[in-house]
Amino acid sequence: MNTTPHEPFPDPRTPQRPLLLAVSAPSGTGKSTLCRRLLADFPSLTFSVSCTTRPPRPGERDGREYHFVSDEEFSRRIEEGAFLEHALVHGRRYGTLRQSVRTAMAAGRDVLLDIDPQGVEQVRNNLRQTPADDPLPRGWVDIFIAPPSREELCRRLESRGTETPEDLARRISNAAEEMRQRTSYAYTVINDDLEEACDRLRAIVLAEHCRNLREGDCG
Ligand code: 5GP
Repeated sequence: MNTTPHEPFPDPRTPQRPLLLAVSAPSGTGKSTLCRRLLADFPSLTFSVSCTTRPPRPGERDGREYHFVSDEEFSRRIEEGAFLEHALVHGRRYGTLRQSVRTAMAAGRDVLLDIDPQGVEQVRNNLRQTPADDPLPRGWVDIFIAPPSREELCRRLESRGTETPEDLARRISNAAEEMRQRTSYAYTVINDDLEEACDRLRAIVLAEHCRNLREGDCG
């Protein structure tokens, strides 16, 4: 055994950075199921509970899926600067609370955002303007989850049965526009087979955990 004094051995685990992981998908793609599976697989991952002005669906609980708020409350929070991003999606307002993302990341946790492409674009711009010493993340990952086809998307949305016919039509017509945004994301995962899509998502998170933060890297 070599007993000569040696240089301190660098810790291979540093520098560590929490991930800010955003997933977007046309409504009915199966994103919520995939997010639940990802959260179960990665205990270091925290779901960011957004605010929304849409009413709860059966089985949804305030503070778990969303913070369900009135239009007035949402406007008040915008004025306070409470949102990291916010957008009008399918005719309702949705926003990510800056403070809950910050708190989780300051504790070293990865954060999962389930937000639409407008929100993703806003967070990307926000991060570009973030000063280097800000505790907010440098580990930004965006993933687009796509349905295998328009027909399959319509079938899944209709069988979910949670939307009014008008809302259903709006979500289907918005899907094509959302699909066009896909190429601005770092990754696309097609949710054809659920297990395969879960594997791909897990692989992305594992790879991002191994990524080195190099000089000049941002987001
Ligand atoms: P749903 O009403 O089906 O739960 O969500 C509708 C859409 O709103 C989904 O595409 C979802 O990703 C998006 N969404 C949920 N929360 C937020 C948020 O905080 N910000 C933005 N921009 N979109 C959100």
